[in-house]
Amino acid sequence: DLLVVGSANADLVVGVDRRPAAGETVLGSDLTTHPGGKGANQAVAAAKLGARTALLARVGDDGHGRLLRDSMEAAGVDTSGVLVGGAPTGVALITVDPSGDNSIVVSPGANGRLMPEDVRAAGELFAGARVVSMMLEIPLETVAEVVRNLADGARLVLNPSPPAPLPDEVLSACDPLIVNEHEAKVIAGTDLGDDPEDWARQLLALGPRSVVVTLGSEGALVADAAGSQRVAAVKVKAVDTTGAGDAFTAALAWRLGTGESLAEAAAYAAKVGAAAVTKEGAQASYPTAEEVSAL
Ligand code: ADP
Repeated sequence: DLLVVGSANADLVVGVDRRPAAGETVLGSDLTTHPGGKGANQAVAAAKLGARTALLARVGDDGHGRLLRDSMEAAGVDTSGVLVGGAPTGVALITVDPSGDNSIVVSPGANGRLMPEDVRAAGELFAGARVVSMMLEIPLETVAEVVRNLADGARLVLNPSPPAPLPDEVLSACDPLIVNEHEAKVIAGTDLGDDPEDWARQLLALGPRSVVVTLGSEGALVADAAGSQRVAAVKVKAVDTTGAGDAFTAALAWRLGTGESLAEAAAYAAKVGAAAVTKEGAQASYPTAEEVSAL
């Protein structure tokens, strides 16, 4: 089974003709509210593909928390690890201008209250997880506690987003560490040059057992001690790339748990990422296994 440990947010989206300046008010379009957050996105993506998936996360005792729980349950996610209370549900306030550019304010809310003790209390979820997948929209001390609670033989997949320097204890547990170009630069803490193979080598030197670099429409690169390999992108007409990275990570984590090699799992994940960019939205764009095989 797959266990995702991470964030759940309500995305509140308004279209505007232009952004307000300080002290100014502008009128926007009708509000749309979508379930989001990288943890919830990953859990929904995996469950939609048919993976047995649980999410360990925290939401507020409010309508946004109920929206998130409903969307996850509709996708088939085990929400027994979705804790309630401590702060309002995390929210992303998103304004979209006519050119499609987003301005986003995130209020982490309950995501910031997912604590190491919540991890220690979730022993049953960890005992059943062959693969645990994480991102960084929760406290770093909680991420570190997850590493200490992995079951024997369980594999950790981490997409360090939003990127922050990671302790060695976390880095060396990643198998793989999944990064895009920006995340690769922040994790490595230096300008990496322009060769992704080189980025992968520099990241491997920091301790992870394997590395995946995602390259958008260029596909991905997988690397471990044995060498590196390109993963071709699937050619599609991109409509909206929101949440594609989360779908990629979730699909890769699930396929690793079924026993596929890193290159095989990444090839499958590239199809899932490609399918996710062909539709608007994050969770709403995620494909079923049938839709992936049709690609
Ligand atoms: P992130 O959102 O984390 O930056 P990417 O944009 O690299 O991640 O997307 C993750 C994966 O989704 C890519 O490695 C690729 O396989 C797939 N993908 C993303 N954008 C496209 C695209 N325009 N065409 C085909 N595949 C894509």
